[in-house]
Amino acid sequence: MQLSARLNRLAPSATLAMSQKSAELKAQGIDIINLSVGEPDFNTPDHIKEAAKKAVDENWSRYSPVPGYLDLRQAICDKLKRENDLEYAPTQIVVGNGAKQAVCNVILALVNEGDEVIIPAPYWVSYPDMVRLADGTPVIVEAGIEQNFKITPEQLAAAITPRTRALILCSPSNPTGSVYSAAELEGLAAVLRKHPQVVVIADEIYEHINYVGRHASIASCEGMKERTALINGVSKAYAMTGWRIGFVAAPLDLAKGVNKLQGQYTSGPCSVSQKAAVEAFVGDQRPVEEMRQAFLRRKNLIVQLAKEISGFEVNDPEGAFYLFPKCSSYFGKSCGTRTIRTADDFALYLLEEAHVATVGGDSFGSPECFRMSYATSDENIVEAMRRIKEACEKLQ
Ligand code: PMP
Ligand code: GLU
Repeated sequence: MQLSARLNRLAPSATLAMSQKSAELKAQGIDIINLSVGEPDFNTPDHIKEAAKKAVDENWSRYSPVPGYLDLRQAICDKLKRENDLEYAPTQIVVGNGAKQAVCNVILALVNEGDEVIIPAPYWVSYPDMVRLADGTPVIVEAGIEQNFKITPEQLAAAITPRTRALILCSPSNPTGSVYSAAELEGLAAVLRKHPQVVVIADEIYEHINYVGRHASIASCEGMKERTALINGVSKAYAMTGWRIGFVAAPLDLAKGVNKLQGQYTSGPCSVSQKAAVEAFVGDQRPVEEMRQAFLRRKNLIVQLAKEISGFEVNDPEGAFYLFPKCSSYFGKSCGTRTIRTADDFALYLLEEAHVATVGGDSFGSPECFRMSYATSDENIVEAMRRIKEACEKLQ
């Protein structure tokens, strides 16, 4: 079967591919510790599940409006006011099937063939492919571990051309855990104010998994809200990855464009999930803080254990639930007949030798690093790091 050139331009999602591979090995009876996919290991809080059960009983079983039920969009506006001090009207919100669809919707709504989209690296694996899907050109700006994986205003200024349509900024970051402070965002905003054609796609899905203080959004910087597509959702903060609810809050024209697009290819997301998401936003917020505390404890644990492995260079993440060590000192080293040449080789070696699933940095635009998700139990973290250390010691 001849598939479209558009499809052939895409790579499969490396995070999902590694997670599937690890599930297959587990099904064969191999004791794999999965640090590959990024999703909370907690169950959805009970009060949210109850709201979903009630929605089923009350027959919320029909098509919702394309941008989502009004009570959900109002709850999102209230959340944005309460937590971010940002004023939006429900007409500016479009709820989609997860933050993933929300990001992709915005890219498809903005980008023409050949338009450039600036993506700081390391980046979340799907961004460049989403830009390619829209016939755009990803422009990668590299920020290594020595700059705590964050781009500077000077780098941003140098990357902007007349063809630049958007900047995708993810903070707290997947895969590095880096968090842009309000002052750092202001530095980037000062550059962007000189280039009014550039829209910021601000992916804030890890907002609540922040270890350094209050979340800062670039939409709060002067003049930026009018050109920011703010992305967020319930997947990470409320342990609701499978419910598939995310949203974009955007200037009205863009929200209308996203609404038109979504109306032609997915319609509004699952009705029952939307009702559960209302409860997530308006109900008891204590579970969010409890989960953040657990992630913080695990972060401290994994950072300490990773630092004990010689050959790794490790940053101290400020948010999200990933550690992204530099492992390139192992490139060129071998165990038996296997030689490690890239971070993907390294991740495959860890999977096969240590039975720990991680993701190589190549598909995050950072071929010297690899990603571990520590959204798992302390015991799993300790055992995984013991195995990784042992596997590393075999590399000569
Ligand atoms: N953005 C980032 C940075 C992510 O890591 C993810 C992965 N969950 C998403 C968006 C997509 O989130 P969702 O599950 O809500 O689609
Ligand atoms: N965002 C998560 C991750 O990076 C989930 C998988 C995905 O959608 O890519 O692992």
